[in-house]
Amino acid sequence: MANQNGKLLLTNAYVLSMDGALRQYASGYVATEGALITSVGPMSECPPASGFTEVLDCRDCAVLPGLINAHTHLPMTYFRGLADDLPLMSWLNDHIWPAEGEHLSPDFCYHATRLACLESIKSGVSCVNDMYLFAASVASAVADSGMRGFIGEGVIQFPTPSAPSWQDGLQLTRELITEYRGHPLVEPSVTCHAPYTCTPEILTTLHGLSREHGLLFHIHLSETRAEQGITEWLQNGESPAAGLARIGVLGPRTLGAHCVWVEQPDMALMATHGCAACHCPTSNLKLASGVAPTVAMLEAGVNVGLGTDGAASNNNLDMWEELHLASLLPKGILLDAEALPAQQAVRLATSGGAAALGDKRIGVLEGGRLADICVINLATPHTTPRYTHESAIYSYLAYSSQAADVKHTIVNGRLLMRDREVLSLNEAAVLREATDWLAGGAG
Ligand SMILES: [Zn+2]
Repeated sequence: MANQNGKLLLTNAYVLSMDGALRQYASGYVATEGALITSVGPMSECPPASGFTEVLDCRDCAVLPGLINAHTHLPMTYFRGLADDLPLMSWLNDHIWPAEGEHLSPDFCYHATRLACLESIKSGVSCVNDMYLFAASVASAVADSGMRGFIGEGVIQFPTPSAPSWQDGLQLTRELITEYRGHPLVEPSVTCHAPYTCTPEILTTLHGLSREHGLLFHIHLSETRAEQGITEWLQNGESPAAGLARIGVLGPRTLGAHCVWVEQPDMALMATHGCAACHCPTSNLKLASGVAPTVAMLEAGVNVGLGTDGAASNNNLDMWEELHLASLLPKGILLDAEALPAQQAVRLATSGGAAALGDKRIGVLEGGRLADICVINLATPHTTPRYTHESAIYSYLAYSSQAADVKHTIVNGRLLMRDREVLSLNEAAVLREATDWLAGGAG
């Protein structure tokens, strides 16, 4: 039976707070009540179990904030495997956009999002930042799964299956804001697809709406080297980031997805304006877009989160793989083994993602924060034996752990997965829906 925001007590765990001081308890506890964490500490201070609805013995497990997937397109799970081994522009123009034109509907987006939520919950992801079409369907599927999500309607200058014009996309965004303002799990966001697919008028109008409501403004930014050349409104060879800064939409709640082709002046502009970046290493590698300069962005003071991008360009929603790559790629590219150490990679997937989204309620385990928690098994062949020095735990998580090791996932104080059994979705039914959709002639 699904735990409905009762009082949970997680005991005997290796607890990683991921707060600024990176507090950790080798034998610790986490207590929750309703949607919130009430306290975190060593087992010597653990409250008595009698006052709790459920006690989870987390021996041999690490307990950390739920992972935050800071850039994705959830309904693209149904396009997983449709077209691969192609560069971004031909992948989009020749395969993805035609398939979207043929198949997208509110129903498609609802069901494909359910599959994405199932995969996310099973890998310890508690929060997603999504940009797609028919966002109202995405939002209701996310809420129904019990996950947390920032959800936006991707506005673009040409007609889409959900909006014949960008003004219709704007209207859908307004309706999403009206419907989900104050929702416990879904935070509406304002999303423009990219500088090269939106005019300055679209960008400034949508950004104005995000400011009016204090919401996240989510946009793809400098994903490919070609982007600067195909963004027609840029002036005098300016970069996309510089163009966005000039028209006033580069922050402070702006999140630029990818940021592969940003130079030092762009990073300085992003830091100054409070524009965050989301690093999507697998998707950038697979589409041959390049590798984002995460170390330089972090050094410049840019908040950086981690994301999977959509399942059609990844081809999964496994944040553990992103974590591995985020820590390994800078080492190989900078020829510096100390670049982006394991603990920093875990930070990008948790507190870093929260900072990039501008949400102080999540990403850290401490009293008063929202109870979004990932419990991962460390008693596996690939995480044994376990050294006990302070940085070792991050090394196991960043370099050794796998999504299938995640044991429990808790969002908003509710147990969504217990002992790998998803409680908030019927796994067999969700898989059958996806298989039936493809078998129905969709492929
Ligand atoms: Zn994307």
